[in-house]
Amino acid sequence: MMIVSVASGKGGTGKTTVAASLASVWDGALLGVDLDVEEPNLHLFLHPTIEGSELAYLTVPTVDEAKCTYCGACSDLCQFAAISVMGQVILTFPEMCHGCGGCIAVCPEKAISPGQRELGEISWGVAGGVGFLAGRLRVGEAMSPPLMRRVKARLEQRLATTGEEAIIDAPPGVSCPAVNAVMDSDVILLVTEPTPFGVYDFKLAWEAFTPLGKPLGAVINRAGLGNDAIYRCCQEKGLPILAEIPYDRAIAEAYARGRIIADLSPGVKETFVTLRDKIRDLAKTSQLREAAHA
Ligand code: SF4
Ligand code: SF4
Repeated sequence: MMIVSVASGKGGTGKTTVAASLASVWDGALLGVDLDVEEPNLHLFLHPTIEGSELAYLTVPTVDEAKCTYCGACSDLCQFAAISVMGQVILTFPEMCHGCGGCIAVCPEKAISPGQRELGEISWGVAGGVGFLAGRLRVGEAMSPPLMRRVKARLEQRLATTGEEAIIDAPPGVSCPAVNAVMDSDVILLVTEPTPFGVYDFKLAWEAFTPLGKPLGAVINRAGLGNDAIYRCCQEKGLPILAEIPYDRAIAEAYARGRIIADLSPGVKETFVTLRDKIRDLAKTSQLREAAHA
């Protein structure tokens, strides 16, 4: 069982189209997972039939002021200033709550009960022979990690029962949600492009993801655009380039129309088949190395 994350140092590098095309050439039972919950768009390429969905919630405090003595134990505990006692007034700020439940546990009067804040929606379905799972953050919801954790929990549960492998479309960037999305993967792909911004963000991504100790490989999208700085960067960092997708008008059009670019021509398809095989090799080499050190 393998989990591959497709990440990028910034948005707009073609991360999702790489994830979708890789899914289209995968050789076995696969689940395509959209963990880019702030801007999910894997469905635009995979066109899944949605079979089910559910809303995800975070537990936030609801205070019964009739029981509250304004002792302040809850606000003293809360690291996030999501509950505050000022004299004979207690205020809650559900949008700032991380749902730890600490205030509920610490209240001596049992004045706090669990309420709910909607995080967003989790949906699942099937796209051709590929399973599909995605999270979509509620508009106005500021925190993506709690919803991502719910999607990941469902992902783990599903892989344990189906034996599927998974390709995760991770959030772009190097923020906490992006690192959280890829940290349980067996292989992390960094999609980049050979432009100055691409190289800059690629270096940030390399710095953020390398400490995870997972095998990393680069996919260079729009190869032929810009200069060779990204190639030198990969060489310096010892990062294998697993695929190059040419800067090509037909590919750009297919991307804009939400098409799987691997379906464009036998040559592009072969690029993704080779990428798939290199990912498997990278995972195997890493496992052998780990076994040798065990
Ligand atoms: S811990 Fe309970 S009793 Fe004390 S201020 Fe908070 S809600 Fe009120
Ligand atoms: S549940 Fe945790 S984060 Fe939320 S208000 Fe209570 S202590 Fe603060």
